[in-house]
Amino acid sequence: MIQLTIGRDQETSKLRVVFGKQFKLFGTDGSVPLSVSRQHCRIDYDADSDSFTITNLKPGENTTSVNGLTIQSKALKETDSVTLGADGYCLPLADIIAAVPRPMSVAPLEAVWNDYKERKLRIERRAQMLNVGRGATGILTMVAMIVGSIPGMESARLVLYCVAAVLVAAFIYLMYRDVDKKTRQQQELNDYIHDNYLCPKCKRFLGVKDFRFVLQDGECPYCHTKFKP
Ligand SMILES: [Zn+2]
Repeated sequence: MIQLTIGRDQETSKLRVVFGKQFKLFGTDGSVPLSVSRQHCRIDYDADSDSFTITNLKPGENTTSVNGLTIQSKALKETDSVTLGADGYCLPLADIIAAVPRPMSVAPLEAVWNDYKERKLRIERRAQMLNVGRGATGILTMVAMIVGSIPGMESARLVLYCVAAVLVAAFIYLMYRDVDKKTRQQQELNDYIHDNYLCPKCKRFLGVKDFRFVLQDGECPYCHTKFKP
């Protein structure tokens, strides 16, 4: 629950909105009439339901109206028109609400993470395939030696050696090419996650961290914006 206490700033007669130990001033000097008191009303923000409630403070002294009706306490929509005091000072509700640190959805990041994981797996699988191929070449060479040691199988040995030689050459070529490709793919993947796995508020990179843990942590490590699914 975040509480915003709203009233006239005594020094400047701007609108003063206090939340926690911080405050923010809205409008220009003298823009808030004296009929708005220093602690005129309060807006409560419930993060769980993402909803606002407005409460008039000091009933009898202050008046708060929502859409033209005087209220004591009322659920608030962002599009409501709120006026304070006898002069009908119009509260800049949209600006005030924009200043509230509301939880933001990180749902789009799940697809980014899954995409990243899948691409990473593909790169690794390719490297594994090449390793298997390299192993097969070695086995073939050994088979050729064993077959060649059996009397009368010299011609088979020659064929197997030739096949092994061609395979070795092919694998050396593929690996050579692949080192480049792998480095490039890994770089691209790295750029991809750094450019897309970002806090929706401050746009900073959240780290190579499973989406589940991003949700579990529940907030941005930099701007502390709360995350919701
Ligand atoms: Zn952030």
